[in-house]
Amino acid sequence: MAYVCSHCGKKLKSLEKFVRCTYCGNRILIKERPNLAKEVSTD
Ligand SMILES: [Zn+2]
Repeated sequence: MAYVCSHCGKKLKSLEKFVRCTYCGNRILIKERPNLAKEVSTD
């Protein structure tokens, strides 16, 4: 499961070793969803 920092947008691989972004120190991380950016039409 990959996570994305909500501040700098860097990808973080695991949350078990750290509770904040290792790049900017931001604590708000978002679960990366592959389907989220996908636009799906269901006609
Ligand atoms: Zn960050």
